[in-house]
Amino acid sequence: MSEKHLFETKAVRGASGGDERTGAISFPIYQTATFKHLGLNRSTGYDYSRLQNPTVEELEKTVANLEGGKEGLAFSTGLGAITCSIHLFKAGDHVIVSEDLYGGTFRLFSEIYHELGIEATFVDTRDLKAIESAVKESTKAIYIETPSNPSMRVTDIRGVSAIAKKNDLLLIVDNTFLTPYYQKPLELGADLVVHSGTKYLGGHNDLLAGFLVANDEKVIQRLRFIQKSTGATLGAFEAWLVLRGIKTLHIRLDRGQENAIVIAKWLKQQDEIEDVYYVGLEDGDGYEINKSQSSGFGTTLSFRVKDKNLVEQILNNVKVVSFAESLGGVDTLITYPFTQTHAEVPEELKIRLGVDEYLLRLSVGIENVQDLIQDLERAIKGA
Ligand SMILES: *Cc1c(COP(=O)(O)O)cnc(C)c1O
Repeated sequence: MSEKHLFETKAVRGASGGDERTGAISFPIYQTATFKHLGLNRSTGYDYSRLQNPTVEELEKTVANLEGGKEGLAFSTGLGAITCSIHLFKAGDHVIVSEDLYGGTFRLFSEIYHELGIEATFVDTRDLKAIESAVKESTKAIYIETPSNPSMRVTDIRGVSAIAKKNDLLLIVDNTFLTPYYQKPLELGADLVVHSGTKYLGGHNDLLAGFLVANDEKVIQRLRFIQKSTGATLGAFEAWLVLRGIKTLHIRLDRGQENAIVIAKWLKQQDEIEDVYYVGLEDGDGYEINKSQSSGFGTTLSFRVKDKNLVEQILNNVKVVSFAESLGGVDTLITYPFTQTHAEVPEELKIRLGVDEYLLRLSVGIENVQDLIQDLERAIKGA
């Protein structure tokens, strides 16, 4: 498909615009573990679905096209993708990592790879000087999330990329929150993009998936090798679901964002609410930098209540909004990072990040926004 097509068209049509052989508009699900050989040393190009699968390939190409990358790799979960990326490093290597990080990624660095000799330094990556001073002889990469979760901190991707280039480091960006519809890290200087496809790309809270996208052929080859060796690849059916989800990515995000802006502004006016963290609020910390590197704010926001008891009251009383982990789907979800997504993060760091007993996170969906506000109002006011 022509590179000239714009994002929305690429999202709807996918990499190949359907099945060339039969004309099927919906790309077929190749639900098979293995493929028949034509003869000795004669392969169709497909041997075994951990190595190649046409549905998965269609999805990998689609995600790579959307991110503006050369190749994409699909995984069974976001953490499967992140694990693969960390395997680019070996014992003795050092990585600089955003301190406000998805809890599962924090656990990978601090508990799994730390024991295997890969050292991580967690820094506030909003502070470019802090990143520079964390660079040492053994540093191999910088790993960031922007906007971060749940504090919605914004990191200057171009600024970090300059530091990475100067020091010959790989820049890895988790782009789950804004997706390529709003932000394209590779164009801003990143070397590797990470996704939890479970979130906005899938978009319906009905599957788990993960992605890596890169441009450098050597990095891609190494990742492919690690991927087939470690095996957290995506199944054909899940791949098809993500392809279907991506077709509406832009309209889901635009509508969810519209709702999120209204809800963020409404929350700010409520007496019971201490503060609202959303990159779409013009008086927010990261607003300008986020605007300079992306075309949207996403649909995830956090807020702090004044009275700790309100947390339980809200979680127990929402009806349209569901109290559930995860984000990025058409359904609005509310979660309590302190004991849920960030259970693994040490208390001291949680407090520094503002992930305390007053903080709630909303992933705003595409329901009617008045229904959402009424639901939140009832839960907050205890009416
Ligand atoms: C959910 C999430 C992950 C992990 O993805 P899974 O699909 O749950 O394994 C990684 N990064 C971010 C930012 C996430 O929100």
